[in-house]
Amino acid sequence: MRDKYVAVIGLEVHAQLLTKTKAFCSCINEYGGLPNTQTCPVCLGMPGSLPVLNKMLVEYSIMMGLATNCKIRKHSRFSRKNYFYQDLPKGYQITQYDDPICYDGYVEIEKEEGLKRIRVNRIHIEEDTGKSNHDLDIDTLVDLNRAGVPLIEIVTEPDIASAEEAYKYLTQIKNSLIYLNICSGNMEEGALRCDANISVMLKGADKYGTRAEVKNMNSFRNVEKAIEYEVNRQIEIIENGGSVVQETRMWDGAKNITKSMRSKEMAHDYRYFPEPDLLGIEVSDEWKETLKSKLPELPLAKKIRFETHYGLNKRDAGILTDDISIAKYFELACSVLIIKNERRYKLISNWIQSDVMRLMSEKSVNIVELNLNPTIISQLSDLSDDGVISNKIAKEIFIEAISSGKLPNDIVNEKGLKQLSDTTLIEEIVVKVIASNPETLEKYKSGKTNFMGFFVGQVLKETKGQANPQIVSDLVKKHLES
Ligand code: ADP
Ligand code: MG
Ligand code: ZN
Repeated sequence: MRDKYVAVIGLEVHAQLLTKTKAFCSCINEYGGLPNTQTCPVCLGMPGSLPVLNKMLVEYSIMMGLATNCKIRKHSRFSRKNYFYQDLPKGYQITQYDDPICYDGYVEIEKEEGLKRIRVNRIHIEEDTGKSNHDLDIDTLVDLNRAGVPLIEIVTEPDIASAEEAYKYLTQIKNSLIYLNICSGNMEEGALRCDANISVMLKGADKYGTRAEVKNMNSFRNVEKAIEYEVNRQIEIIENGGSVVQETRMWDGAKNITKSMRSKEMAHDYRYFPEPDLLGIEVSDEWKETLKSKLPELPLAKKIRFETHYGLNKRDAGILTDDISIAKYFELACSVLIIKNERRYKLISNWIQSDVMRLMSEKSVNIVELNLNPTIISQLSDLSDDGVISNKIAKEIFIEAISSGKLPNDIVNEKGLKQLSDTTLIEEIVVKVIASNPETLEKYKSGKTNFMGFFVGQVLKETKGQANPQIVSDLVKKHLES
């Protein structure tokens, strides 16, 4: 029955911005301080205190707007969103209402059949509230360090059609924020939060169904699960002759279900009105162009370039560009290759995805903290692609390079580890090995051809694993049959 329906999903993402100070005061904007130590009369909402707009906050918002192909409004204002809650001392949140700073953009996600555009309705600036800690035995305690932390809210049109598309969109948004270096993207710390508006309708219907808004999902996986759950729940209601009610629902991560939080009847009336204590934001063309010229290459563009320029497949390009510092590391390693070709780029990509990433997870560090000279990887790739060392030896050199800090080229020279590709030398050893094993030779000649492996093994052993295995097996074959 699911096939009769399509899902219609719109996402609202809140991102805390990495400005040095808060949105409207000079309190430090840093996660994890002792409760209520990063506050002042402005963010505590003391009567008579006045907000002052943080310019960096406006720049970061414009940058995200440009990164999501939005139009940037020349003149926008702030509004007050009024409601009462213990973690909102002012009794209102400063936000933007009907004239958000960025609007009418789109984000592209990759699908089998090509790129799909998810339209971005708007990006607006607002301040975060304080945080109520309900998980204590004593009571609910309020920490106002978060009050006044700068946020942007990124709102899509209902263009997302599945949990998978939502996941891809969110990954794109998160990576863009990180590439721009304007948000940590850390969902556990609440630096990135997502609400999902979900409805279903019959295929081909010309009117959207009634939506539910789901909150409280603290990972992209949970967003996916919540969408799956909600879509099934709504289809079931409709199939049973009922109708979906518009409401806010909570994701219950322990039970993997959504639960009703408040219905539309109880929905807030926020009494929005223009914020009288702040002037509007003016964005000149010049300012916008300057910011545009400083935008870095964005995640999807980088991924596509990794595919075309380095000849990587989609999977490899995706893994490498999923983390901007790994992408940088890969490009650095490629740039110091002696011979640059797609085979060697692929070798570097393999090294990063296997041994380097394994080391990172063993030590629980990122690639910058791992502090591994990219020249090690590129020399190993050059050496093995030149046939100078075997795979086995390359792995050994890698381990030695990490512990000694020496470069692979030097290790190979010092230890005489060069793979033997000198056929005359290998041939001498082949002849010797065959001559000293007459019984095995007899067996081979009597038809037990699998004894060839024995001779190859003996030769490799004689050369301490340094002989090129392909050359050895060719020569063994030649001499056994002569
Ligand atoms: P609100 O003011 O209640 O937050 P908005 O119109 O701003 O409502 O929409 C919020 C989000 O809900 C947007 O992402 C939008 O795309 C999405 N949305 C709107 N209508 C639907 C619908 N019928 N089904 C799914 N999502 C929807
Ligand atoms: Mg909303
Ligand atoms: Zn303050």
